[in-house]
Amino acid sequence: MNYISTRDKAKEKYTAAFVIKKGLAEDGGLFVPEKIPSVSADDIKNLCKDTYPVRAAKILSEYLTDYTYGELLDECSKAYAENSFPGGAAPVKHICDNMFSLELWHGPTAAFKDMALQVMPRLLSRALVKTGEDRTALILVATSGDTGKAALEGYKNIDKTKIMVFYPVDGVSRVQKLQMSTQTGDNVNVCAIKGNFDDAQTGVKKIFSDSEAVKALNDKGYFFSSANSINWGRLVPQIVYYISAYCDLVNSGSIKIGDEINVCVPTGNFGNIFAAYLAKLMGLPIKKLICASNKNNVLTDFLKTGVYDRNRDFYCTMSPSMDILISSNLERLLYFCAGAEKTARYMDSLKRNGKYEIDSGIKSLIDENFAGYFADETETAQTIRDYYVNHNYLIDTHTAVAVSCAEQYLKDTQDNIPMLVVSTASPYKFAADVYCSITSERPDDELEALKMLSKYTSSEISYPLRGLEERKVRFTHTAKPEDMLSEVYDYISKP
Ligand SMILES: *Cc1c(COP(=O)(O)O)cnc(C)c1O
Repeated sequence: MNYISTRDKAKEKYTAAFVIKKGLAEDGGLFVPEKIPSVSADDIKNLCKDTYPVRAAKILSEYLTDYTYGELLDECSKAYAENSFPGGAAPVKHICDNMFSLELWHGPTAAFKDMALQVMPRLLSRALVKTGEDRTALILVATSGDTGKAALEGYKNIDKTKIMVFYPVDGVSRVQKLQMSTQTGDNVNVCAIKGNFDDAQTGVKKIFSDSEAVKALNDKGYFFSSANSINWGRLVPQIVYYISAYCDLVNSGSIKIGDEINVCVPTGNFGNIFAAYLAKLMGLPIKKLICASNKNNVLTDFLKTGVYDRNRDFYCTMSPSMDILISSNLERLLYFCAGAEKTARYMDSLKRNGKYEIDSGIKSLIDENFAGYFADETETAQTIRDYYVNHNYLIDTHTAVAVSCAEQYLKDTQDNIPMLVVSTASPYKFAADVYCSITSERPDDELEALKMLSKYTSSEISYPLRGLEERKVRFTHTAKPEDMLSEVYDYISKP
């Protein structure tokens, strides 16, 4: 299996190991597989008998053909082990009627980023060996909270890698700060920045493009790398859980092999839903992909009108991981529907004018597969309350957006086949908003909110968020944004 850039009409080919190491193509495009492997009814029948790590290894081996099946099974078995994902990696729960929830938040940081970030660092570490790289990858991450923690947990103690995370000192919640400052592992470092998220992000981008810094690192045996969500290594593990969920629905007798299902995904950067689209292209019987957005509904408008326009107000919502105006992975969908030449043109227009309009032929291709809906803050809060009170099912703010959109879709279409709603975070990850949605009472403190929610709903706090106050704080350092590079030098010169 080879990979090509979404913007390269000459279709130059690269290996999986190369694209995982490289992240972004030279021409600014994203890497995509040259062809799509298929999953037949017989394959599904066999996968039904397998555990999650085996399903993952089998599906990844269709895409990562320069890794052996043994290597993939080894890494998937470690990544999705019971101690990281107690009770299983991606369980499917029945909510009500024909609605099911795919819970992707049982990993070490209680959010779905773990599904990719537990295995991707392992794939990168192997990619360095496969591409003859003898330097260590130094991963730099600027985070507004959740991605930083998930990356730290993913890269901790992974060979040939080190990771350094920068977060805005007053820009993350008390829970998030504690999660990062108590991070364990020998190859991790965390630094607070006196500034906001943009300052941290700008600082990291500046370091990546600083040729002197690149050279200085090279002399010490390092190169910079990113844990960015557009890396193919983060996307490919996400295909697995759609196929796995289908198998689980078969195993529970909810569907028969060959039956169609709908899938509804709370969407930000379009990575998760694009993985579902790939599963559909592989042959998984998915009828519609419902793209759920919050009040930042640029994708809802795009799917309705064919015009992508980021020139609009930006809202901070209670589903912050979906507060995005440029959904980078949408470029991969454009490539599959419109080809490299048009994709490059659309992306150029997005960069210059903040907008583009797709041709009507391409729009109808997208319409066959996707529907777009959004939920505002009131609808999100009502959905959390409604599903807790009426179905005894506790959901976080992101999942609630998806549930609300799934309901809107059902109401519009009466398309009542099984609906798989993707649940992307533990309700405890956003405990204050969830508690407030149910009781109309706002806890003053995030740590308190965890306990209040647990008491009120008689449910257990997700394991990664338990006992945070008792953990040993390892990282207390704060730096100015202009000193980020010297912080990096300090870190790598330590023994
Ligand atoms: C990242 C994230 C999303 C959005 O996923 P994309 O792949 O960026 O579309 C949704 N919910 C949660 C909780 C997330 O962390």
